[in-house]
Amino acid sequence: MKFENDFLVIGSGIAGLSFALQAAAHGKVAIVTKRDISESATNYAQGGIATVSSKDDTFDAHVEDTLVAGAGICHEDVVRMVVEEGPAVISSLIDWGVKFTTSGDTYDLTREGGHSQRRILHAEDITGREIQRRWWLLPGPMKISPFMKTISASI
Ligand SMILES: Cc1cc2nc3c(=O)[nH]c(=O)nc-3n(C[C@H](O)[C@H](O)[C@H](O)COP(=O)(O)OP(=O)(O)OC[C@H]3O[C@@H](n4cnc5c(N)ncnc54)[C@H](O)[C@@H]3O)c2cc1C
Repeated sequence: MKFENDFLVIGSGIAGLSFALQAAAHGKVAIVTKRDISESATNYAQGGIATVSSKDDTFDAHVEDTLVAGAGICHEDVVRMVVEEGPAVISSLIDWGVKFTTSGDTYDLTREGGHSQRRILHAEDITGREIQRRWWLLPGPMKISPFMKTISASI
């Protein structure tokens, strides 16, 4: 069987799916994944995603918590970049249709070990699965790139 594509994405977790979505705007994308498309760490992630979204929280506090938890092995510039880009990435997930759990008019933020603030956005206790399934429900990828294929294979 012969496939011709512009982009080959290996893995159907959140990293692969995020990249595939952006690449699909520029050409044909094939996603190669091991076993079933839903088989990934992403699918099993339950607790949620840490990001600064409360008025009581700051990027500096999130960076500091991460450096402390990292016990000396984190590069501060990388930590800061990831922390500061967090809110924009969360907005993208919300644009995908991901339904984070709410409490009243706001998102329900939980607090996990190592965090000095409540900053964990979650979709009940199936956060990763919710992200993956919303991606597959998106009309975008198929519209943008009708040739997008998923091949279940291990390299
Ligand atoms: C049980 C569990 C709970 C977690 N809870 C949280 C949480 O609450 N919050 C949080 O932030 N993080 C959590 N994590 C971590 C989080 O899930 C991962 O950091 C994140 O999902 C990684 O995404 P990814 O796309 O890089 O990798 P993955 O989601 O693992 O995707 C990797 C993809 O590559 C494919 N692949 C691998 N090898 C090959 C191969 N040889 N050939 C073809 N395809 C291959 C896999 O099939 C899969 O599709 C949890 C992880 C686990 C396992």
